[in-house]
Amino acid sequence: MSTIAFIGLGIMGGPMAGHLVAAGHEVTGYDLSPAGLDKLAAAGGAVAGSVAEAVRDKDIVITMLPQDEHVEQVFTEVLEHAATGTLYIDFSTITPRTSEWTATEGVKKGLRVLDAPVSGGEPGAVNGTLSIMIGGEQADFESARAVFEAVGKTFALVGPNGAGQVVKAANQLVVGGTYALVAEAILLMEGLGADAEKGLDVLAGGLAGSRILELKRKSMLERSFQPGFRIDLHHKDMGIIQQAARQAEVPIPMGALTAQLIAAARAMGHGSLDHSALLLVAESLAGKKSA
Ligand code: NAD
Repeated sequence: MSTIAFIGLGIMGGPMAGHLVAAGHEVTGYDLSPAGLDKLAAAGGAVAGSVAEAVRDKDIVITMLPQDEHVEQVFTEVLEHAATGTLYIDFSTITPRTSEWTATEGVKKGLRVLDAPVSGGEPGAVNGTLSIMIGGEQADFESARAVFEAVGKTFALVGPNGAGQVVKAANQLVVGGTYALVAEAILLMEGLGADAEKGLDVLAGGLAGSRILELKRKSMLERSFQPGFRIDLHHKDMGIIQQAARQAEVPIPMGALTAQLIAAARAMGHGSLDHSALLLVAESLAGKKSA
């Protein structure tokens, strides 16, 4: 069992830290907001008053923060206060470049660094069934195995530092594009008098089937867009995807179009809705109001 500092106890980090406590690790949490700290304390974890206090003399330091700038800021403090040899695992979704930077700077200070973005959303975090894509060294991956087993179901080392973020970017590219096409398919069926509900059932069982059709077709038909995963976060992820594509010198025309549709959803005031709310953008383009 390890001593673990967990920074960022929000929608995802809160339940993940709870699973680590339940697995028998000694977890000390820190968050700017007291809500996450209270939940961790109730789950049997310890709370710290600062990043410095949380990370001092720990075997493992974990972050689960919103965006690059938060990781940059917190990791700078980790560099200053964590012990040599500490394993740093970042579960946040950020750019591959920032993950590479944490690895380069971490190694200079004797830290071992993994990027480990997740997929599976809040239910995956609550149920401990996340999919985790990990970038870094094989030996560090092996020593983090107990952490991944506590919070996830499927996890794999997918390459060197930053590669976890690249795979997460690919994941978000497919998810965003699929939502955009399912939204268009719904309007097409509804617009020409087909039974969209039965139509989507058939699509879900054929080659067009996907987890999105499986899990979201009912709520999309009902125009129920409670998050889930917010448009605002997917907008952030489309920026990461576009930056990664530029770095790889790979054109992503479908991704670029999806990014614009997600930006439109945000501009229309839907940033806090689930990303399936891309249907509202498709409706707006078609001159329709939501039912
Ligand atoms: P969240 O906003 O609920 O939680 C982030 C937490 O970080 C907040 O509690 C915030 O107070 C804290 N924080 C921010 N700056 C801090 C700092 N300097 N020091 C300490 N704490 C700080 O976000 P979330 O939904 O948990 O997402 C976290 C990451 O996981 C994001 O990168 C997101 O893209 C990714 N992700 C989210 C989902 C999802 O469904 N929500 C799914 C997969 C991946």
